Amino acid sequence: MYVCGPTVYDHAHIGHAKTYVSFDVINRYLRYSGYKVRYVQNITDVGHLLESGEDRILKRAGALALEPMEVVETYTRSYFEDMDALGVLRPDISPRATGHVPEQIKMVQALIDKGHAYVTKKGDVYFDVTSFPEYGKLSGQRLEDLVSGARVEVGEEKRHPADFALWRHAEPEHLMRWDSPWGEGFPGWHIECSAMAMKYLGETFDIHGGGLENRFPHNECEIAQAEALTGKPFARYWLLTGSLTIDGVKMSKSLGNFVTVKDALARYPAGAIRMFILSSHYTNPVDYSQAALDSAQKGWERLVSAVQLVRHRLKSAPEGGAPEGFQKVIADHRSRFIEAMDDDFNAPVAIGVLQEFTREVNTLLNSGEDVGRDMLEAIDAVYRELGGTVLGLIPDEIAGGADAERQDQLINLLIELRAEARANREWARADQIRDRLAEIGIILEDRPDGTVYKIQG
Ligand SMILES: [Zn+2]
Repeated sequence: MYVCGPTVYDHAHIGHAKTYVSFDVINRYLRYSGYKVRYVQNITDVGHLLESGEDRILKRAGALALEPMEVVETYTRSYFEDMDALGVLRPDISPRATGHVPEQIKMVQALIDKGHAYVTKKGDVYFDVTSFPEYGKLSGQRLEDLVSGARVEVGEEKRHPADFALWRHAEPEHLMRWDSPWGEGFPGWHIECSAMAMKYLGETFDIHGGGLENRFPHNECEIAQAEALTGKPFARYWLLTGSLTIDGVKMSKSLGNFVTVKDALARYPAGAIRMFILSSHYTNPVDYSQAALDSAQKGWERLVSAVQLVRHRLKSAPEGGAPEGFQKVIADHRSRFIEAMDDDFNAPVAIGVLQEFTREVNTLLNSGEDVGRDMLEAIDAVYRELGGTVLGLIPDEIAGGADAERQDQLINLLIELRAEARANREWARADQIRDRLAEIGIILEDRPDGTVYKIQG
């Protein structure tokens, strides 16, 4: 699986989180299903130009008075820090475009040799879109339609307005430059993905992913370059994630509604952010708002507190797998979860199944019925595998676990003191303990074999 990675000229924003959390779950689920996955996600550190024709990284380096590679290093580290915090598993290979310039030069030369690309007087190399009749097939566009929309910049020597740059000559002040058969220059953005995908995954591979906003021209150009060269299909499946808006508006720095992953993590737990993202199908757009995040956080907390309760009850559970009828509940929810994920990684439906399961679990645990250790372990395994391994929503160790443990010991101490008070006929004292606990939502229940407690809320 190859997924277009970030251009590292600034901190990752919440739109990046949407894309990479989505692919994280796809990666996790494929592995869980028994596939051997090689997950390649590039780091774009050269060639991704702004509308103005400036290189994003060079522009940023100028603004910060840093070497371009300092900018790259700073924001690459920041990106991984953010993704780690979001529980995104790292790709197996994170190739950098600047580390693969020879591969890109070789590919450009091969395209020239095959008649799919041409060199201009200035030393730019363009892909000749008329040489690849299928150009436009991913985004469903015809070349005729593209002509009117294509822009030719001043100084560009294109044969066709839709031709795109494979290699650009470097002006004297351009810091990022490499030797090539066409003079000093730098690679175009599209060629890096084709070259690195094929280097690590072969001429044809299974899944190519990315954000929908890069389908045209970026992904379309990748296909043209690769398939024109090899004559073989490039990727078997294209998985593209829907966009993210903020309060219904496209996120942009100029509008002041730009939310970085770090901003989001300062306000919400990572689990809530993942819950928010995964509550829509990966192909759908999502809208980031306080209400949406608050609701995702509540949903996530409900899930986690059920898991906490299960793990807590496990510590003092009697042996055995009672009640037996609950095995069917587990099996049913497991298979419905798998069915949802098998249907184009339908995480929102899978989360719904986990939530229904949680209602069943809460009913069981609050029924007063003895739940055996084996049964609690089977319930916990559902949470660990489906909620943890696959969706990355439930941590192996829940923070606050030690607090819960201490709370349990304190309540049991009070139960012990109350039992002593009753043995000494100090009824007022015994009632005081019971009533004060009830006031804070801890309900004592006297049973023939001793006193147990329930936490309300
Ligand atoms: Zn790409």
